[in-house]
Amino acid sequence: MTQKRILITGAAGFLGSHLCDRFVKEGYYVVGMDNLITGDLKNIEHLFKLKEFEFYHHDVSKFIHVPGKLDYILHFASPASPIDYLKIPIQTLKVGSLGTHNCLGLAKEKQARILVASTSEVYGDPTVHPQPEEYWGNVNPVGPRGVYDEAKRFQEAMTMAYHTYHGLETRIVRIFNTYGPRMRLNDGRVLPAFIGQALRGEDLTMFGDGSQTRSFCYVDDLIEGIYRLLMSDYVYPVNIGNPDEISIKAFGEEIIKLTGTNQKLVSMPLPQDDPKQRRPDISKAIALLGWEPKVSRAEGLKITYDYFKNLSPEELRKTAHRFG
Ligand code: UDP
Repeated sequence: MTQKRILITGAAGFLGSHLCDRFVKEGYYVVGMDNLITGDLKNIEHLFKLKEFEFYHHDVSKFIHVPGKLDYILHFASPASPIDYLKIPIQTLKVGSLGTHNCLGLAKEKQARILVASTSEVYGDPTVHPQPEEYWGNVNPVGPRGVYDEAKRFQEAMTMAYHTYHGLETRIVRIFNTYGPRMRLNDGRVLPAFIGQALRGEDLTMFGDGSQTRSFCYVDDLIEGIYRLLMSDYVYPVNIGNPDEISIKAFGEEIIKLTGTNQKLVSMPLPQDDPKQRRPDISKAIALLGWEPKVSRAEGLKITYDYFKNLSPEELRKTAHRFG
């Protein structure tokens, strides 16, 4: 049997790099692509020595050329944290729209199956709780998160259009908050922010009164869900996330306990349009994919803390000016 070939965009990012690892392990030839705006080569440097891995430094918002056959495409290129998409709003819009269009065009050309990474942000600040895939969302198109949310909504529409009009094999995953090793310490997300602050001996910056909720999924669970969705024949969006919901205040207290820091939670202004609550309804993933998360927050946080603890002092310091 000939070796399957898969293109992974956003390969040097947090999720992209874990996907590269998974597909190499499954025996695939992996073509990684990233423009390295938010990704980091150190996430995939261990793969460069493998003959079944190659890397293109390329911006997928521009025409994509990959020689040879492709069986699968995973489109994971995108800034993905509120700090990133506030800093680079136009690139965020472009990679979700033009980048998706290029990936879909490439999939059509190569007759490849494509899975695109959507997000719980398509639900905006949800008025339905927990969020099932049928919920259409509550998004402010012109707010600070609009550039990401609307790009992802456009991405879903474009992907469905390629499926219905061109008969392309498409999959859409809606990813809820995910954490684990290789998250960028300075991406502004709550988990690296809190752990970074604890490690530097700073107070933990809780936005608002911390009553807003999130549901955190450990990265290995997410990757397994994505793998199963790709191999399934279901074309509509599927939520993948961990339904174990927690308030940001309680989460901060967990991090204080885990890290043994003497610092405390300090309240900072709540960013505009910050979703008040978020928890995936994962009944579809359970029924269609036989998937549900296996790693508890206690286990996942411990592994993630060990990863951050072992970063070099310069890496830890680099992030210090972002907060406070
Ligand atoms: N948050 C916080 N302190 C921080 C960073 C984030 O309290 O230093 C809050 C943020 O307001 C939000 C939650 O934590 O309510 C999750 O934020 P994150 O940026 O990780 O993801 P998202 O809002 O996209 O779910």
